[in-house]
Amino acid sequence: MKKILIILLVLVPFASHATRVNTYKILPIEGFQVLMDEDLIKANPRIEKAGIPNLKKCLKRIEKELPKAFISFSKKDGMKIFISPSRKMFNRTGMFFVPKDNGSFRTGLEGLMSNAIVIIDESIFMDADILYYYLVHEFAHYYHFNVLGYTNKDIWHKYHAARAMPSYKIANFDLSNHLEFFAELSAMFFTTRGELRKIDKGAVSLMEKIWEPEGKGMMKYTPDWGVTSPRK
Ligand SMILES: [Zn+2]
Repeated sequence: MKKILIILLVLVPFASHATRVNTYKILPIEGFQVLMDEDLIKANPRIEKAGIPNLKKCLKRIEKELPKAFISFSKKDGMKIFISPSRKMFNRTGMFFVPKDNGSFRTGLEGLMSNAIVIIDESIFMDADILYYYLVHEFAHYYHFNVLGYTNKDIWHKYHAARAMPSYKIANFDLSNHLEFFAELSAMFFTTRGELRKIDKGAVSLMEKIWEPEGKGMMKYTPDWGVTSPRK
C-alpha cells in the first residue's frame, strides 16, 4: 500500500501535464512488430509510401544475413521497432535502442517503448545500405543486452585492448563505451567486412565467434555478469 501511495504522489505532478496520448499504427514487417506514430503518418505521408518499403527491404536483408536463431529469438522476445518524430524524441536524430524496462518517467520514454529500436522519422529515408548499417548497429545492442550479456568478457577485453592502442582507428568509430564499440564492430562486420579485416583481423575473428554460432546452438553465449557493473 505504501508503495502504491508513493507512486501516486510521483504521478500526480506529471498527470497535469499529460495533454496528449501517443497512438501507433502497428505493421507486421518481415515478422517484426513495427509501430508508427499516427501523428507522424498524418503529417508526413511519405513515411508509409517511401519509408516503409525501404525499411522492409532492410529487414529482409537482416533476416537473411544475421543468425536465424537470433532473429527468431528477438521476435519471440517481443523486440519492437518504433518510427517516431524527432520532436517527440527530444529532437534526437538517427536511431537508438531502448533496453528492457527502460521506458519510464526517468528516461522520458513511455513504457511501451521498452526493448525497442526507435527510428527517428527522417532516418527511414536513408539510402538502403546506410539504413541497413544503422539497423545492424541497433540489433547488435539488442544482442549484447539480451543474448550475450552486456558484461560479456570477450567484448569487454577487446574494447579495453582497443582503447589502450592510440593507433586504433575505425571510421565512424565510437570508443566511448564497450556497447557502442561492439555495435560498430558488428555493423562493419555485416557491411564492410573486408575493410574491417584490414584494420583489425582479430576483430573479425571475434565477430565470427559471436555472430556465427549457427549449428552450435544460439545460446552458446549465456549472459555473464561477472566482469563489471554498467555503472563503472
Ligand atoms: Zn549505439
